[in-house]
Amino acid sequence: MTGSGWFEEAIHAHATQKLEVTEVLYRSQTPHQKVVIFENPTFGRVMTLDDVVQVTEGDEFIYHEMMAHVPILAHGAVSDVLIVGGGDGGLLEEVLKHPVEHATMVEIDHGVVDLARRYLPSICKGAFEDPRTELVITDGAQFVAETDSRYDVILIDSTDPIGPGEALFRHGFYAGCKRCLKPGGILVTQNGVAFVQGEELTASWRHFNALFTDPAAYAVAVPTYIWGFMALGWASDETEHRRRTLETITGRYAAVGLDTRYYNPEIHLGAFALPTYMKELMR
Ligand code: SAM
Repeated sequence: MTGSGWFEEAIHAHATQKLEVTEVLYRSQTPHQKVVIFENPTFGRVMTLDDVVQVTEGDEFIYHEMMAHVPILAHGAVSDVLIVGGGDGGLLEEVLKHPVEHATMVEIDHGVVDLARRYLPSICKGAFEDPRTELVITDGAQFVAETDSRYDVILIDSTDPIGPGEALFRHGFYAGCKRCLKPGGILVTQNGVAFVQGEELTASWRHFNALFTDPAAYAVAVPTYIWGFMALGWASDETEHRRRTLETITGRYAAVGLDTRYYNPEIHLGAFALPTYMKELMR
């Protein structure tokens, strides 16, 4: 927190984002990271970890809808989902809108889950109480290296590659994810804002290219991840998932009866059309 009543995030060495703070609801240090939750007139409640915005009540639906519904509807027969990170519960809540059998969330910091339940109930809603949810508190990298479980879709809702999140951007972690995917499974990752954090997309894409048949990324415009499109990484050994027709996705969307505010079947297909500067980062 800097200045009087403003939060400033230095996502990039030479540019910052500032959000007005009308009330600080919580500020402390868990064993893993510094957590602050504050109110902003435009975005509602905002949670930061180590001074980086993680989630806001106002725009969380954009990132969470796109991270959950694109791979799950592209796959078409998902029963088991693994989320790594995602302590605020917003992604879990979107995943559970599908008729999945199990949603396992592996989060390193129990403190984030507890604070989300207390201060961000509009984001996690009842997701942690859903009988299909299994919450595991451990390091995601260790979990994917050791578990015997297998998943149709794995979603990496991580912090940036600093602090505890750093382990979730390494080759060994992605190899662990591949090991835990069922045949034809899909891995989706948080890869930062491409214009200012392009090295994240490049590094992950190179690991995907070495490990998977279909390495890719798709774009989503999240207001509080400023400076252009955020990249969500995509990796699968099934090339057809990324080439579904509008008719197929529209049919699956209608069958689930989803009610979404950013995601729709047209955005699903269009999100894979990347601007050239993003394509150039993927080689
Ligand atoms: N959408 C957010 C963003 O990119 O700003 C990410 C939100 S989510 C709260 C990120 C979560 O990843 C945090 O709760 C953090 O504790 C968790 N995390 C970081 N490193 C982890 C690891 N190695 N294993 C499991 N969870 C991890």
